[in-house]
Amino acid sequence: MVNGFFLGNELIALAAVDSGVKSAYAYPGTPSSEILLAFSKFAPERYAQWSLNEKIALELAAGEAISGSSTLCCMKMVGLNVAADPLFSVAYTGVDGAMVLVSADDPGPYSSQTEQDSRMYAVSAKMPVLDPCNPQDAYRLTMLGYQISEKYRLPVMVRPVMRVCHSRQNFEAGDVSKEPIHGQFSKNTPRWAATPKFRRILHEKLNKNLDLLAAEMAPKIPEKRYDMAVVASGYAYAMAKDVINEMNLPFDMIKVDMPFPLDKQFVIEAEMVYDRIVVLEETFPVIEHNFTIKTVGRLTGLVPSEGELTVDIIADILFKTAGMTRKTDKAEITTSETPVQLKPRLCAGCGHRPAFYAMKLAAPSGIFPGDIGCYTLGVNLDAVDTCICMGASVTFAEAMKRSNPDRPVICTIGDSTFFHTGVAGLTNAVVNSAPIVVAILDNETTAMTGFQPVPHKTGKLTIEQACQGAGVRHIAKVDPYNLKKGVEALKQALAYAHTDNSPAVVIFTKECVTKTRYKNKKIAEITDACTDCTICYEKFECPAIYRDKAKRMAKIDETACVGCMVCIQVCPQKAIGVKK
Ligand code: SF4
Ligand code: SF4
Repeated sequence: MVNGFFLGNELIALAAVDSGVKSAYAYPGTPSSEILLAFSKFAPERYAQWSLNEKIALELAAGEAISGSSTLCCMKMVGLNVAADPLFSVAYTGVDGAMVLVSADDPGPYSSQTEQDSRMYAVSAKMPVLDPCNPQDAYRLTMLGYQISEKYRLPVMVRPVMRVCHSRQNFEAGDVSKEPIHGQFSKNTPRWAATPKFRRILHEKLNKNLDLLAAEMAPKIPEKRYDMAVVASGYAYAMAKDVINEMNLPFDMIKVDMPFPLDKQFVIEAEMVYDRIVVLEETFPVIEHNFTIKTVGRLTGLVPSEGELTVDIIADILFKTAGMTRKTDKAEITTSETPVQLKPRLCAGCGHRPAFYAMKLAAPSGIFPGDIGCYTLGVNLDAVDTCICMGASVTFAEAMKRSNPDRPVICTIGDSTFFHTGVAGLTNAVVNSAPIVVAILDNETTAMTGFQPVPHKTGKLTIEQACQGAGVRHIAKVDPYNLKKGVEALKQALAYAHTDNSPAVVIFTKECVTKTRYKNKKIAEITDACTDCTICYEKFECPAIYRDKAKRMAKIDETACVGCMVCIQVCPQKAIGVKK
């Protein structure tokens, strides 16, 4: 028996444990990262793996599920792009045990490059998808996902949004915990290694299964009270329900647990019963596409096509549809009350900051493709020129060098991202003779998503070995706190790349400062020699340094300074020293 006040992500993990999941695989990414940790907490004896990337995680989960076991696979929605190849194929083959794929979305977006909707992938791949509206619902629908997967032998997607993953609810589980389901692989070549001819047969079987499942899971039309209805799924349903109840709006509510496949008969009946149907869902019109008449939503322009569906937005939509005037008691915010928004910055003492600073000193006219991680904040130092997706810094560097042969190109990639998708790009740069410098920012962890482990800390493989394996012949390793050595290493790497017509790698290794910040008690201080040139607090932008307006000089916030002493190397006036 488990009870408590749980995160949505924790309840997804608990449902997986209670459904008999044997193995769980994931790559971290907000808002999904807590699921694997919670799985290990609830069932420490079961297998859990942080895989190198989402494609590998999905293939491992599918491989075990094809062997008859029950598995869980977790990622954020942009990770689903990486996993798209096996996703489409495994939807056709199905599984012999059970598998739930959790792809967590980020409408807003709050910590992602896009607002993409994982449910669109589910439609495209023909994989059933469940859309929970709150943490308790996430538990219920994950359990349901395993039941569907076992019954139809199909992989099932669960798509929570950030507000479901990261909100908490009281939860009391019954005594349902199943023993982990282990399977054995049964050879079935026409299914597991299907040729195109058999793929068509698998596709036909999948379509029949989806029709049966859609009918079984058809949403319930309630006893009619009003002429208008809201059809909603996920977090939008929870918001709409609150708005309708609290503001007494004239709408019946219909909850869609499974946006795909949606029962055709349900759509026909809903269109017959109601004069007006409002479809509310995040983020794309997956449900709405099924309706043809009497329906308003994103496709008609009533619902915004970007951003989260907040209570305010939903209330405005429903009042407008009902032809009612909404009275708001929103207090007007005057300019003086507007909160100051501080931009996110690298931490004081972060090893990435001097690495970026060294790049700018080594290559003032350089082009700096960046990547995904906390080090994307190097954009504040003018040392990140592009940010597209995981691993794209290396391939962008190759491309940009080809288009800008006269300019130095140094890309940055974190240690976790390097192993995720950077190695393939680096290999491509080697075999295609790209004279670029790849700066690997190694903080020895996957810091941004909660310090998940990185491959080179297992002691089985180093970053240097991976680079050598990719064919790189010039590899330097430096401590980023030594600015002079960092600049020298980058200049040598640029010269080597130019002469050898091949990539060179500089690895900047410094443990993430959030793990070391209290170890070093020495701090820096600024003397009267300061000329207020602004370099340390603007160009170098250490958050522990600020401008004392009255004294017109830089000052150090001793509570924030961690004693990295890089500012001493940055100050042209030698006005910074170690506090005695
Ligand atoms: S870099 Fe040196 S001179 Fe410039 S503001 Fe900072 S302490 Fe003052
Ligand atoms: S030593 Fe200087 S650069 Fe390092 S954290 Fe303190 S103020 Fe910032």
